[in-house]
Amino acid sequence: MPRIPDSFLDRIRESSDIESVVSGYVNLKRRGKTLVGLCPFHNEKTPSFTVYPDNNSYYCFGCGAGGSVIEFVRNIEHLDFYEAVKLLADRAGLQMPEETVDDGTAKLRRRIFEANREAARFFHETLKTEAGQPMLAYLQRRKVPPEMITHFGLGAAPDDWHALHNYLRDKGFRDDELLAAGLVREGVSKKDGKKYVYDYFRNKVMYPIIDVRGNVVAFGGRVLDNSKPKYINTGDTLAYKKSRELYALNFAKNGNDRRLILCEGYMDVIALHSAGFTSAVAGCGTALTDEQVSLISRYADEVLLCYDSDEAGQKAARKALALFAKTGIHVKVIRMQGGKDADEIIREFGKERFRKLLDDAENDIEYKLAKLKENYVVSTNDGKIGFLKEAAVILAREDPLSRDVYASRLADELGVAKNAVLEQVRSVQRRDYYREKKTRLQQATAHAVNLEKATDPIRVTNLRAARAEDILLITLLNNNSFYRKLENRLSAELFVTPMNRKLFEVIAPRIAANEPCDSIHLSRLLEPNEMAAVARLYARSSTVTNTFAECEDCIRALEEEKRKANAPDAAGMDDSQMLDFIRSLRGDAEDKS
Ligand SMILES: [Zn+2]
Repeated sequence: MPRIPDSFLDRIRESSDIESVVSGYVNLKRRGKTLVGLCPFHNEKTPSFTVYPDNNSYYCFGCGAGGSVIEFVRNIEHLDFYEAVKLLADRAGLQMPEETVDDGTAKLRRRIFEANREAARFFHETLKTEAGQPMLAYLQRRKVPPEMITHFGLGAAPDDWHALHNYLRDKGFRDDELLAAGLVREGVSKKDGKKYVYDYFRNKVMYPIIDVRGNVVAFGGRVLDNSKPKYINTGDTLAYKKSRELYALNFAKNGNDRRLILCEGYMDVIALHSAGFTSAVAGCGTALTDEQVSLISRYADEVLLCYDSDEAGQKAARKALALFAKTGIHVKVIRMQGGKDADEIIREFGKERFRKLLDDAENDIEYKLAKLKENYVVSTNDGKIGFLKEAAVILAREDPLSRDVYASRLADELGVAKNAVLEQVRSVQRRDYYREKKTRLQQATAHAVNLEKATDPIRVTNLRAARAEDILLITLLNNNSFYRKLENRLSAELFVTPMNRKLFEVIAPRIAANEPCDSIHLSRLLEPNEMAAVARLYARSSTVTNTFAECEDCIRALEEEKRKANAPDAAGMDDSQMLDFIRSLRGDAEDKS
């Protein structure tokens, strides 16, 4: 593949400043020369995600994610290098250079999107034919209005093993592309032992799943009767990971109040959108995942959980609350009253009733307190005390204002003094404070060590050398002119840790040839994990003096480490080996005596 030329990457760098690109996904706050925010790559409550506009890089001190603006787009949109550059180019209104073509993976992914789009069209059209009548009847029974069928592109997979396969083959799709899309499956004929493919979705009501960029990425298919499983969904493909998508987010993301309603199923979402609640989304046949929570945090500060009132739904709600607790997202729980789910409530009582449920939604403290209270008989003294002790644990973790509000409310409810409630909360806080301080310190240390061990195991056992390498590399990146003066003393062999050595091997020839060597250009030459190491260096930029003298110091330190490493272990030598070694040091290795 002809590579994307440096000159085009220059234009990407000029047109895609990292601050504005990242701001589209992360709420950033300025802190001196850098910007910080909550990391979109791991769930956290205090920001450790840092953007360095000066170097066009970002680095997360919590999870070690990092790179240039290109890696940011790659990681957050799950794209390869070419696709990420193309997205940035599109965003800036730049035309991709003609001589570059995308590689096999990107091409196959594009074919999967195209096949899915054609399949969605086929399913939707089938709904209007004889073969689609049972599915249409199902949607009508569920009171889905015709305009919603169009809006969500709902469809019908006919009761046929080859209808879609034949249709897509006529459109020019190959079997391997359809297999990769998960639209067909492969079987072996019992008659002649030959392989053949057949439609995966048959006799189903079809729900296309569309990502936030408008690609049809997958399908959910519902059976027409009550047989189990109720739904079959596209498995993970090159273009789709079910743990990372949310149904209807393509519509819901356009709301302007940064608030989403999270439901359990496709039909809930459709019922809500139909009733005008267009911020409703749902998981795609999975329990809520960390990745979906991260995705939600890009579009919402508040989430209303709209889970079924049955035991399974309430269990799912508790799990979701635990996941959101790790983030800064505010969560409220809708109490389903008068029906099992949103669809049923809206159908039975109308949308005003549901709006009231939304308004009355309990925030997570109220929900947790109400659930806790169910375990105690608060009319007895024992019950009252037991409940208050546990309630204090919940309040201790809340912000001061909520703490005060709910302490008053509990005091009134139970007929005790507000001060007694608050004193109980404070004692929990004192206990938590010391416990947390201890575990946080342990965790931070363990985390830092593990991160380094995983990315660069040699580093942990060669900290002095690693430090000198870091300073040397970052100073050379910032001051390319130093490299020329030091060229004869620098070599890859000087580097002890494999990661830094790799970086040097890529960086040095670029500087020597006077080619641009900033984060954007390095993106093309290094793997994402290597770019994270570069970002880590940039993150240390402000702690180095950026002087020629410091470079020389680092080289000296590395040479010294090298000598130490090469020195044989005296304790392990016998007498004659020791003699040879001493002679070699004197330079008279040949025995002349
Ligand atoms: Zn992170």
